[in-house]
Amino acid sequence: MAIATTNPATGETVQEFDALTSEQLEEKLQRAWDAFQSYRDTTFEQRAGWLRAAADIFDAENERLAELATLEMGKTFAAAKAEVTKCALGCRWYADHAAEDLADVEWPKPKSAPENARIFTRYQPLGPVLAVMPWNFPFWQVLRFAAPALMAGNVGLLKHASNVPQVALAIEDVLTRAGFPDGAFQTLLVGSSVIEGVIDDDRVRAVTLTGSEPAGREVGARAGQNVKTSVLELGGSDPFIVMPSVEDLDEVVTAAVSSRMLNNGQSCINAKRFIVHEQIADEFTQKLVAKMESLTMGDPMDENTDLGPMSQAQGVEDLDSQVQDSVGAGARLLTGGKPAGGPGNWYPATVLADIPKEARAYREELFGPVALVFRASDADDAIRIANDSDFGLGGSAWTSDEDEKIKFATQVESGMVYINKITESTPEVPFGGAKNSGYGRELASFGPQSFVNAKTIWIQ
Ligand code: NAP
Repeated sequence: MAIATTNPATGETVQEFDALTSEQLEEKLQRAWDAFQSYRDTTFEQRAGWLRAAADIFDAENERLAELATLEMGKTFAAAKAEVTKCALGCRWYADHAAEDLADVEWPKPKSAPENARIFTRYQPLGPVLAVMPWNFPFWQVLRFAAPALMAGNVGLLKHASNVPQVALAIEDVLTRAGFPDGAFQTLLVGSSVIEGVIDDDRVRAVTLTGSEPAGREVGARAGQNVKTSVLELGGSDPFIVMPSVEDLDEVVTAAVSSRMLNNGQSCINAKRFIVHEQIADEFTQKLVAKMESLTMGDPMDENTDLGPMSQAQGVEDLDSQVQDSVGAGARLLTGGKPAGGPGNWYPATVLADIPKEARAYREELFGPVALVFRASDADDAIRIANDSDFGLGGSAWTSDEDEKIKFATQVESGMVYINKITESTPEVPFGGAKNSGYGRELASFGPQSFVNAKTIWIQ
């Protein structure tokens, strides 16, 4: 895939970038390794100071940075500004909390230990960590990894998605201007074909990938062959269960649409499968369709736009083929269902119901503005449908019944369940998947603890 900025709203390629030559890549890997030798000895206070300075730059340059995201991947400008703000929040959160997350842990002494023994865990950095990142939250996904990893004393190497090179370079620029030492965080403008070699390189000590399941399998397997730590944050087809006891169905439908349409329908934690009790399924579906049809599709820079373009032409083609296949297999199309035509990558808000098991929409992740509606006969049936998926990232359930809240929270097979609230990614709360949605956790205290040697030390 060419490394280029192509405006998803117009289809116009604005700027192309040369991939690093093998000599340039080698030079950056060595610079990361050299930087680590002294960066590992910097203090939490120094790292926190640099992160706070980065947060200030994200805030001061919010609009300029947000424009880059909208230009390169098509999210609405309002959403892009909110994303850059969240990066500032994440930097400040880890500046304030990582030292505590990484403090020594003292252990009770075994009977055999002498009186003066001290037994504890110290978290030590691993070294250069490779981050393979997706385009959909092009700032946040990177900072979600980088802020805690840098606080832990690691240095970062970013292989960003090939369609967001300007954002990739901007992140390196922000962190450099914030004062991080030379080589502490570098962007590698490279295609995915060289990634295996980078993972094999002895100087790279761990890898994290946020992206699709196939990419995760390859990167995770390569890390395993090299006995290197890996974190995988992969795709999802999150359930959104609605029970008749909900107090305000209109509010639930509003939440459903906002979750499904977040980021023009291209978020790993979008609610994708709406599993609704049959008593309220018709009413829910009718309201859902009306709300989806009321959304304004258009220029992502326009503040009245609800739905911008999809990020890539290939994404529109893939989504169209999944929808056509599902309709062919018997799914009922309630609205939308056809690309809206170019130039640019336009796909309208779409709703499918009565999706048979054979349909691709039943099994696959639909990474675009398409809602899938399923009917459930009771709570157990809703859980059965929710769990009939290879994915297990997030999920939400909406009910006023206290027993059902616990039942959904404990029985839905996923890394995260939110009751009466849509799933979100925020620095204070752990984030990550189960099943084919990946392994490892980011954010909260898991973030700083992901790329460390938790070293047992016994001194007597
Ligand atoms: P993708 O095609 O897997 O790309 C993600 C990153 O991996 C890009 O940098 C890509 O580089 C690289 N890549 C692709 N194939 C690779 C390979 N074989 N070896 C090494 N690197 C490879 O995913 P995407 O289309 O950008 O993102 C959408 C997917 O990400 C969805 O499935 C979504 O659910 C998932 N996602 C998950 C989370 C989470 O936190 N769980 C968050 C956001 C997105 P190129 O661009 O150069 O191909």
